[in-house]
Amino acid sequence: MKIAVAGGGVAGSYFSSIMNNEHEVTVFERQGSEEFRAICAWGTSKHEMRRLASNVGISFDEYIFHEGREMVVKLPGEKEFSIKLKGLCTFDKRRFILDMHAKLRVIYGFDVKRANIEGFDLVVDSTGFHRALLPRLKKDYYIPTVEYLVKYKDPPFDDFYLMPLTHLGGYLWYFPLSRGLAHVGVGDYFGRHRSALAEFMNKYPGEILDVVGKPVRIAPPHLCNPIVSERVVGIGESIGTVHPVIGEGIIPGMQSAEILAECVQSGLDGYAHKIFRAFSVFYDIFQFIRKVHNSTFSYLRDFKLLLSPFIYMKLREDRFGMEVKLRDWIKIVHAYRKGSLATA
Ligand SMILES: Cc1cc2nc3c(=O)[nH]c(=O)nc-3n(C[C@H](O)[C@H](O)[C@H](O)COP(=O)(O)OP(=O)(O)OC[C@H]3O[C@@H](n4cnc5c(N)ncnc54)[C@H](O)[C@@H]3O)c2cc1C
Repeated sequence: MKIAVAGGGVAGSYFSSIMNNEHEVTVFERQGSEEFRAICAWGTSKHEMRRLASNVGISFDEYIFHEGREMVVKLPGEKEFSIKLKGLCTFDKRRFILDMHAKLRVIYGFDVKRANIEGFDLVVDSTGFHRALLPRLKKDYYIPTVEYLVKYKDPPFDDFYLMPLTHLGGYLWYFPLSRGLAHVGVGDYFGRHRSALAEFMNKYPGEILDVVGKPVRIAPPHLCNPIVSERVVGIGESIGTVHPVIGEGIIPGMQSAEILAECVQSGLDGYAHKIFRAFSVFYDIFQFIRKVHNSTFSYLRDFKLLLSPFIYMKLREDRFGMEVKLRDWIKIVHAYRKGSLATA
């Protein structure tokens, strides 16, 4: 098949790498090769990444910057507590993607639009939040973010640090990279991301080397329909494969690429169904977070929804790279339901 892949981010590049041996694949990437950016905090879990990367002949461990031991979580007005980590790490996502590109036919600086992509048997929309080729969503849900790359002479933390914001609108992250560098950022549904980051930087000043920001889609695949439209099929964030509470999109995006690759071999008919099944828990988690955002969440009535993010992660501790305890989860939800929206 002649396959066009629109968007050479992590999902599109991974899908292309799987398909490249048996099909004629062309990747169209809007950014140039030199200035290519992978906007993200670069946090992931090494266990699942090892498995996924090995499918395309990549040794994931060569990209790891920092392996976490524990993540400190700070709830305002309360003592910090820590979560034991078992595989959560940061990695060089940009180099990881560019190394996949190196074995692919990539056309850089190409802004794909519906009209300018013709003559392919299959067109994949992996343009992330932009969703450049699939039909526009009637109602989208996303979290605005801002992130700094910070150089510290004396880093304020030597491991992962997280500060959830009230109403579970989002959180501040401090993800160590290497040589005193860290990604420090905030995403918040209620738009407090810039002030929360400014406050953190006042407290823990460092040299800001780069500033990025873009929205993260939290609408799950069920609300991103259609995910297949004529000869265009979506993977990754374009179809909402992002954990609606923690904003993790790298592994789910690659998993959706893996599902599409299997379906291309066996026929595209079942693709949407397989995606909905694989990511059905994201729909439950999304229902939960919407209720918290709208202040309509009730412990009694919505107890099952409250448990869904916990159970999903508890059963997959290695996959998420951390120990997951109900006590910690309740602590986070409870502390933040009490807070006011004016404060982070
Ligand atoms: C600030 C921030 C921090 C995050 N941190 C984490 C994290 O630590 N861990 C984690 O798992 N997830 C994280 N995420 C989420 C994760 O980065 C994304 O969900 C994931 O990268 C999505 O992958 P993708 O390939 O689907 O889309 P993207 O990574 O967005 O890639 C899409 C690609 O398509 C290209 N493109 C867009 N439009 C066009 C067009 N019209 N024509 C051609 N090319 C186009 C873009 O240039 C880009 O290269 C974070 C997100 C943000 C914004």
